[in-house]
Amino acid sequence: MFTINDNFRLLPENYLFSEVARRINAFKAAHPEADVIRMGIGDVTLPLCPAAIEAMHKAVDDEGNADTFHGYGPEQGYPFLRDAIALHDYNERGIDIRSDEIFISDGAKSDTGNFGDILGPDNIVAVTDPVYPVYVDTNVMSGRAGSLLGDMWSDIVYLPVTAENGFVPQIPEGVVPDVIYLCYPNNPTGTTLTRAQLKVWVNYALEHGSLILFDSAYEAFIREDDVPHSIYEIEGAKKCAVEFRSFSKTAGFTGVRCGYTVVPHTVMGRDEDGKEVGLNHLWNRRQCTKFNGASYVSQRGAEAVYTPQGQQQIKAAVDYYLNNAKVMLEGLAKAGLEVFGGKNAPYVWIKCPDGMTSWEFFDMLLEKCNVAGTPGSGFGPAGEGYFRLTAFNTLENTIEAVRRITNTK
Ligand code: PLP
Repeated sequence: MFTINDNFRLLPENYLFSEVARRINAFKAAHPEADVIRMGIGDVTLPLCPAAIEAMHKAVDDEGNADTFHGYGPEQGYPFLRDAIALHDYNERGIDIRSDEIFISDGAKSDTGNFGDILGPDNIVAVTDPVYPVYVDTNVMSGRAGSLLGDMWSDIVYLPVTAENGFVPQIPEGVVPDVIYLCYPNNPTGTTLTRAQLKVWVNYALEHGSLILFDSAYEAFIREDDVPHSIYEIEGAKKCAVEFRSFSKTAGFTGVRCGYTVVPHTVMGRDEDGKEVGLNHLWNRRQCTKFNGASYVSQRGAEAVYTPQGQQQIKAAVDYYLNNAKVMLEGLAKAGLEVFGGKNAPYVWIKCPDGMTSWEFFDMLLEKCNVAGTPGSGFGPAGEGYFRLTAFNTLENTIEAVRRITNTK
């Protein structure tokens, strides 16, 4: 009989969001009159911007006409979108990234998850803790994580980010990771790194021959000047970093699906003979074999995001979410809670009061305030004692949730 990839058996069930849903449903069954506000949502709530909608309508019409029909597109993405990204997200910001270093995809989850395909099985992987779970689970699938001891994988290097270190990951002692996942602005903590703080990691990677996988899915939320929009703003990063971006949170494409990955020609890994091999070439090879391109319609929609109207419209939507985050930050701080993040990200990270665990705080908020969020411990051991609320909601619900929390304090 055939065998399976046993690494998948190592993975525990993804219980965080199902347990959240189970507890909310049980509460609602017991209290049918309760109006529970869900502040755990990691998905956008505003509709797509008119510029993208219009472009996609036109693209659908293109598909209905023999002269403008598009079948399979280039696996790397259409030049119209790769060029627009290179120009607006990089060149206009003084960063020298070329179109052929940009690979369009159906989103950053697939790309961050798949990138390990082109990396050796023995690389030592480091993640910040708490973390977006895709980085860890996909390394478990490919056998790089070792075994699960309690809630930590034996072969993964965890870089705790907590209030104690100001949510800045510190260089690990006694081990040199080969592959370092950094996500800024961060999910789940909503915190950021300054240029100087990110430079420490770029210099470390250059010195040790490590690769940084930089996830900037929340780049559009950056408002503060000292927060880099791209890792390539840091000198030397083009030799040691791959950057993942997405139109999901930038432009509401969570349902449409479009993202991209930047793999500079200058990022080199070593093969088993010690010879240098370019990651751009390998990623291209991987994509051409396993991926047939993002849809023409979604790429036209993404292109429209870069028009002046598109830029204005997506900024208005992101500003709306950031205002929700501000309402939470200010209101919850006034209520005496310690709050973090939320200034350049749609996530507010709360220190659970009175020594409560993440799940105790979850139950308390649900029962006393009828507000549901996400327990920080679900994102990693260093998330214990923290709690995530998201700005993806209406302003009215956000104000009401803050009012309820304030009143029970
Ligand atoms: N990266 C991070 C850090 C995320 O939080 C998310 C989605 O929540 C993604 C990537 C996935 O983005 P996409 O919708 O482009 O797959």
